[in-house]
Formats: sequence, C-alpha cells, structure tokens
Amino acid sequence: MVSASVKFREIRQALAAAGAFDADFEAREIIREYTGRTLPLTGDISPQEERKINETVLRRKTGEPLQYIFGQWEFYGLPFYVGEGVLIPRPETELLVDIAAKRLHPGSTALDLFSGSGCIPISISKKTGAECYAVELHDAAFGYLKRNITLNSANVTALQADACDGALFGDIRFDLITANPPYITGEEMRELPENVRFEPETALYGGTDGLDFYRAFIPAWTGRLKEGGAMAAEIGETQGAAVSGIMRNCGLEPEIIKDYAGLDRVVLGK
Ligand code: GLN
Repeated sequence: MVSASVKFREIRQALAAAGAFDADFEAREIIREYTGRTLPLTGDISPQEERKINETVLRRKTGEPLQYIFGQWEFYGLPFYVGEGVLIPRPETELLVDIAAKRLHPGSTALDLFSGSGCIPISISKKTGAECYAVELHDAAFGYLKRNITLNSANVTALQADACDGALFGDIRFDLITANPPYITGEEMRELPENVRFEPETALYGGTDGLDFYRAFIPAWTGRLKEGGAMAAEIGETQGAAVSGIMRNCGLEPEIIKDYAGLDRVVLGK
C-alpha cells in the first residue's frame, strides 16, 4: 500500500519532469479520478487504484491530454465524452454560455456552429431551456456530439454538415448564433503545446491568419438572425478587431468581450 499523499507528490514530480504545464492541477485530477480523493490527502490508496494511476501517468508522459485518457471532461458543470478527433472543452468557452444565458429563455431558438463535443449548445440548452440546433462536419466529432446530447438528455438537434452553409435550416431564424470555429494561425500551429497536438487539426487551424472560418460563416448566417438577434463568436485573443470588421461589413454592431483572464475572447454582433 502506498499513502495517497506520497503518490500525489510522485505523480506531480513525474508530470513536471515530463514538462506538464500545470503538474499540480493534473496530479490532483488524477488522484480524484481514480480514488475519489481531494486535498488534503489522507490514508492509503489500493493496488488497483495505483495501477490505474500509473497507467495514466505513462500515457500522459507521451503527451496525450489527460482529458482523452479519462474519456470525459466537465464543462459548465456538465459531463462530456471526449477523445481522439474532438476538441477538448476549454473553460474560457463557458463565456459563450454566459452570454447566451442573458439573451435566451424557453421559447428562444439558438444555433451553434462548429459544435465539436457539443459543449456549447448542450450547456446553452440546459441553462436556458432554448431550442438548440448544432452543426458539426467531421465524423469523429459528430459521434461525440450525438453521444453527449444523449448523456445530458439535452434538447439539441444535431446536423452533420458544413457550418459555412447558411441554407442548412431553410427558413428557421435564430435569436442567437454561437460559434467557436478553428482560429489558430499557421504560425501558431507550428508552436502548439504537445498536448494540443493530439487534438484534431480540423478543430484548430483557421487558415494562415486564423480568420478563414469567420470570413465564411458570418456572411452566411447573418441573414438568418431574428429581428434583435445576435451572433457570438469565440476568437483568439488578437483577433477582436478583424472579426469585428467582418461583422460590421455584414451589418452587425460588434462588441468585444473579455474572458475571465482579461483576454479578448468573444465578439458579440447585434
Ligand atoms: N482555444 C483553443 C486553443 O487555444 C483553440 C480553439 C479553436 O481554434 N477554436 O487551443
């Protein structure tokens, strides 16, 4: 038997040596996932728990993200299946759900583009009671989207299609359209942290300047907003002015909203 606190320090040390960005956080998450324990740690862990922990640390040392190894990750207090082929939900993306919560209520209609795991539309649906639609093109991600709708019993209709095609829903108009498109630039792609390299390029790479998808989906969907409706797009921290310009060209009045780290993170167009 090994004591939980000794094991915790051993994991933290191993992950730090392997270059993990926040070894303390990851060590806590691993202990919690396999033993249910949180700090302060007391007592011993079982040999079975230790075996699972050791396997996880070995996989993590290859660069594989912790979220893929666990197979599930939390976003906005809800569980989401994740794994190869789907972007891991990021905490800063919760800002889109907060924006939706201020604008939507039961009876509203919302659309999310480039849905991936579905963390955005599923959370919006649960939080606001709005009727939500989700669009995702890629097979693996679409599979996760469907499974996550079921996992959360969410009122979300998923469509496997190109999110830049504004004719997908015929005459339906939306109170809010959200999107977290791929927005990493060519230069940034060459410098991605190792764990992000495990995530699908199709969910990350936004063309040379990172803006290809904004140029495509914003003009395609602006005409599908209801009177008084809005579009909310997550952006990379340096893309606020450019995405605001694209929205303005489509007749929307843009506002840049910062995330909880103080970085530009969403452009809201009304
Ligand atoms: N926020 C993600 C990252 O920094 C990128 C997600 C995206 O391109 N939409 O890795």
